[in-house]
Amino acid sequence: MGVSEILMEVRDLSVQFPGKNGTVLAVSHADFTVCRGEVLGIVGESGSGKSTAAYAMMRLLKKVGRVTSGSVVYEGRDILRYSDRDLQSLRGSEIGMIFQDPMQCLDPVYSIGAQMVETLRAHRSIDRAQAVKQSVEMLARVGLPEPEKLMKRYSFELSGGMQQRVMIAMALLCGPRLLIADEATTALDVTVQDQILQLLKELRSERGMAMVLITHNFGIVSEICDRVCVMYGGYVMEEGSVDAVFYEASHPYTRSLIAAIPKADPMRIEPLLPIPGTPIDPMQHPTGCVFHPRCAYCMERCRTEVPGVHTVGEGHTVRCHLLDTAAAQHETAGKETVHG
Ligand code: SF4
Repeated sequence: MGVSEILMEVRDLSVQFPGKNGTVLAVSHADFTVCRGEVLGIVGESGSGKSTAAYAMMRLLKKVGRVTSGSVVYEGRDILRYSDRDLQSLRGSEIGMIFQDPMQCLDPVYSIGAQMVETLRAHRSIDRAQAVKQSVEMLARVGLPEPEKLMKRYSFELSGGMQQRVMIAMALLCGPRLLIADEATTALDVTVQDQILQLLKELRSERGMAMVLITHNFGIVSEICDRVCVMYGGYVMEEGSVDAVFYEASHPYTRSLIAAIPKADPMRIEPLLPIPGTPIDPMQHPTGCVFHPRCAYCMERCRTEVPGVHTVGEGHTVRCHLLDTAAAQHETAGKETVHG
């Protein structure tokens, strides 16, 4: 990937939540990039740090969370150092966000139309009539019936699925260059979920919009993403193209996640392989590799040493000691051949 293609670069991002009973290490030294027009999926179980990373990227952690290291460089400038004013103009205009809970961004006091028109006019130099027209078009675009009437309604009058689509319409209204979606389709039924994914695909090819999709669903990743970043216990464990991660997964956690995906092929009746153990307790991070209590390949050093990141292919990185071992074995085999 060329440097000029990079739209957002997250480097060494760490986030903690200090509390009375200890500190939650939510994200640890996360690195990933989003290129122009590409769709990056961030996957992982609950507590993996995927949503916290997204909130930190947009400085939405409020006062409870603390970024303890790292940078989030968007178009050459670190968002973590933006002034509040610059941040305000970036959010909703250049970068749109969709949350799992629509009520987080819809205000029950104002009609849907009032919120959309205000958002558009805050970021674009257009008159009210144009803003109304564009809002109605966007509501229709996300598949909402009778958009003119919907403009006059309030969020609490709508079903959960409709609220979700309104939020998506609002996030897309100003034509963002990057859309960050946090489990945005999880609460929707599969038909609506599919419609929304199709819409996102269309917008991506029409406008070249990049996306970061945070999900626990590998099906969504395979359908829409170009690259994927697998998180566990706050660490990025594996990152690469969807093909590389699906077909040449190198991290034991990624392999376990893939083995746990139900297969729809009636000719292949294989038992599902659940990942042993329970998801990590962020208050009690294991020492060494955070995945070691659940890993079938755990070695002595895994209990004490945090593994480093290894490059295993073009744009494909893995955080695991097994890669050290593989490299060491390869080196030993090479020496034996030379000296033998
Ligand atoms: Fe398993 Fe060790 Fe690799 Fe962690 S570093 S995933 S415990 S082999």
